[in-house]
Amino acid sequence: MCGIVALASKHGDVVDRLVTGLTALEYRGYDSAGLSTVSSRALHTYRAVGRVENLRNVIPDSADASIGIAHTRWAVMGAVTEENAHPQSDGETAVVHNGIIENAHELKILVPDAHWTGQTDTEILVHLISKFVTDGHDFAEAVQETVRLIKGTYAIAAIHKNFPGTIIGVRHINPLAVGIAQNGDLFLTSDIAAVPLDKFVDLDDGDICVIKRCDNANIQTSFFNFDGELAIPCEKEWQEGRSVSEFCGLGDSPDFTIKEIREQPQVIQKCVDALQNGIYAPFVECLQTKELLNLVGCGSSFHAGLIGKYWVRKYLGMFACSEIASEFKFENGPISKKSLNIFISQSGETLDTIRALEDVRGSGGEFAVLTNVLHSTMAKITPSNLLVGLNAGPEFSVVSTKAFLAQVATLLCIAIQYLNARNPKLADSLTQDLERVPYLIGEIAQHEYTSPLLQDASSISFLGRGLFYPLALEAALKLKEITYLQAEGLPGGEMKHGDIGLIDSRSVCVVIAPTKAHFRKIASNVH
Ligand code: GLU
Repeated sequence: MCGIVALASKHGDVVDRLVTGLTALEYRGYDSAGLSTVSSRALHTYRAVGRVENLRNVIPDSADASIGIAHTRWAVMGAVTEENAHPQSDGETAVVHNGIIENAHELKILVPDAHWTGQTDTEILVHLISKFVTDGHDFAEAVQETVRLIKGTYAIAAIHKNFPGTIIGVRHINPLAVGIAQNGDLFLTSDIAAVPLDKFVDLDDGDICVIKRCDNANIQTSFFNFDGELAIPCEKEWQEGRSVSEFCGLGDSPDFTIKEIREQPQVIQKCVDALQNGIYAPFVECLQTKELLNLVGCGSSFHAGLIGKYWVRKYLGMFACSEIASEFKFENGPISKKSLNIFISQSGETLDTIRALEDVRGSGGEFAVLTNVLHSTMAKITPSNLLVGLNAGPEFSVVSTKAFLAQVATLLCIAIQYLNARNPKLADSLTQDLERVPYLIGEIAQHEYTSPLLQDASSISFLGRGLFYPLALEAALKLKEITYLQAEGLPGGEMKHGDIGLIDSRSVCVVIAPTKAHFRKIASNVH
């Protein structure tokens, strides 16, 4: 996932601080990085494929400025090359961009003389902004004219060499926030965990933010709307920020993945506490009126939804479907007052899930959100009784561990809350089971297991039946994300319908069958 950090500083010290910001964004995954500064009416751009460290090595010691923008790119349009890394720049304008400009190709006709240097969709922004400035527009007007033309999703930060004290930020669907550091410097960032902020404003879709460093070094921010008059700023509410150390401390863990695995017992405990404090009651009140639940998500959140589907069917006796968010919209199913669409996302910013949610919202369907980030895009548009926080704390590792577990535990807590009135005995027994989980996970997390089998594996399949089938899918996803090995999850019974033909002496098969349930059947799969 890509990341943006931009800084307007009272002093000429942005380069190091931007590189530090990019380092804090590394946890999101990326393939190249870059930064641009403006000083003495000249634009300087540095980019490198690979780690932020590689970028640091190409920036001369003498480079510095009071204004700069920086980016970690996860290539979507155009290969992983230095030319395609962000900032994209034509020497006049420099732009960093998260998201996709869908009509980039069609808009090329508006800038016939542009000199194209790469293959990204982002480059069109650079040429359009430069064109509007050349046509006589002020920088903010040029950005506004540009965003009125583009279609797609974007968080953008831009600078222009003729406006040496100005950074402009724009948000449409991809998150972007502006924050004030303790010394009054201003940051723009796609992730408030990346920089220490005293106060911040989460931009809304359609917002333009203009950050200006004045001649006396004071820094001002004003907010506008895509469609509004640039002479009339709009008011925004500043929220209290949090220090980076609150997010980033590794403690005695070697990395975030291990740290977050170790935090899992507390995460489950928080779900148990929330259940006992009746936190899920308003949500369950809404469920009473429903006949069908659609659980929608991507990746790990989709797998959590699959597990939730089992529980809804088994314990609530309701119809339930679990859907992949990017496929949900193609189904065009009827929107009924009797159905509730539950969208699950760790970050609350998963684009495919937001799009599926917007489709439901646009058709008047009822929706609920389970997310770990209560100031996220998805959280902001959800009625409070249908918004459920996962309380897992910030998750930095690319592989979701504690947040996935929080999703699963939260779905179980919702089922238990539902059963409290209908089948208290079952509710009690499930609660007791759940209460033991923090201890059990704590025990397991003390040990590290290494399997020599994996080293020479040509492929790895995880098999499970019933509830363990979604876990097999999740296990395969984890392994792919963290090792880049070919892995897949299968329902136990499916192996014989094709995949068995691929088995050779280097295929590894992991069978998940920890309980009596389905044991015999899965044992026959093992044979
Ligand atoms: N449009 C961008 C590109 O591929 C997306 C990059 C990103 O979101 O990191 O250049």
